[in-house]
Amino acid sequence: MAPNIGSKVILDRSGLDRLIADLRGRGYRVIGPVLADSAVIYDEIQSAADLPAGCRDDSEAGTYRLDQTGEPWLFGYTLGVQGWKRHLYPPRQRLFRAERGERGFRLLDDQEVEAPLALLGVRACELAAIQVLDGVFDHEGFTEPGYLRRRQNAFIVAVECGHAAATCFCASADTGPAVGQGYDLRLNEIAGQGNWLFVAEAGSEKGLAVLAELPSRPASPDQIAAAAAQPQQAASQQSRQLKDDAARVLAVSTESPYWDKVAERCLTCGNCTMVCPTCFCTSVEDVTDLAGDIAERWRRWDSCFTLDYSYIHGGNVRSKAASRYRQWITHKLATWHHQFGRSGCVGCGRCIAWCPVGIDITAEVRALADAERGR
Ligand code: SF4
Ligand code: SF4
Repeated sequence: MAPNIGSKVILDRSGLDRLIADLRGRGYRVIGPVLADSAVIYDEIQSAADLPAGCRDDSEAGTYRLDQTGEPWLFGYTLGVQGWKRHLYPPRQRLFRAERGERGFRLLDDQEVEAPLALLGVRACELAAIQVLDGVFDHEGFTEPGYLRRRQNAFIVAVECGHAAATCFCASADTGPAVGQGYDLRLNEIAGQGNWLFVAEAGSEKGLAVLAELPSRPASPDQIAAAAAQPQQAASQQSRQLKDDAARVLAVSTESPYWDKVAERCLTCGNCTMVCPTCFCTSVEDVTDLAGDIAERWRRWDSCFTLDYSYIHGGNVRSKAASRYRQWITHKLATWHHQFGRSGCVGCGRCIAWCPVGIDITAEVRALADAERGR
């Protein structure tokens, strides 16, 4: 019997390979987790053989380590180092290219046509991060056409987490670990006791059309229960929490002496902004070839931690590390609400793991709250 939206079916390993092949056959460029430089990153895959079988990551403040467990899990890691933003909003993008002619510069229409993206392995917090970016790039009359085109054409295969890293706090950010709305297919990987399979569910007509092409069978009540238990287990493993009143704490802490304490540790390296799946600051650069015949405009990711980013007509408005850290965390957790109607943090914990000095966004909010109370 063909599956319906919301009905749960079983895919085995060949079914996963068929899913990847089917998406590729439909013209998608399939992006999934792969192993690179002892880390999981998201890059193009050809088949399930490219997935990081048996890998499990271990993160703490300032620490990331990937172990090979020898277990059959393909999605046993928690998160890739960088989120899907890298593919939906690439770090460097050429905005236009122009060529000098006899009558001045002429814009060239030579942008490559990009294949639509299929994102395989999107976690709950990452789906929430994509939805945060949707709000940024289609907001009050401003639209970012490249992002919106990639986003509208994308096919999302979410995979629910069965365990959490020590840096995860999506449960307190209300973005996971259970995958919410917005996926085309949702998978739960079940492995152990001789089993290795996926419980799969379509969340859209597009997902249903793909699922109907795959070899599947109805899931049993035990298999459905095992899938439902996974996000509960991941939530129970999360010890970090974002304070409920983080936005209020930051709103009243603009002049807190605590910012100087953060600045004693913060290197203003910008790592936190580079790995954050919702940070969106960019700069624009114009370049020419040596002869001055070709001119190009490029947009590249930037960071509110760089000195140049806040340079305005003759001066830098955030010259100190304290003011740059304050800007980042206050925007992320407080003023983002005013601007976009929600928090800019989805609780993925990447900024904690990849901060070289282990600055922890959840701990800094707690410390600011303590400073406010005079402790
Ligand atoms: S908080 Fe950490 S990662 Fe972010 S700029 Fe400071 S030192 Fe770098
Ligand atoms: S601020 Fe940190 S925890 Fe929050 S979404 Fe960005 S990287 Fe993840």
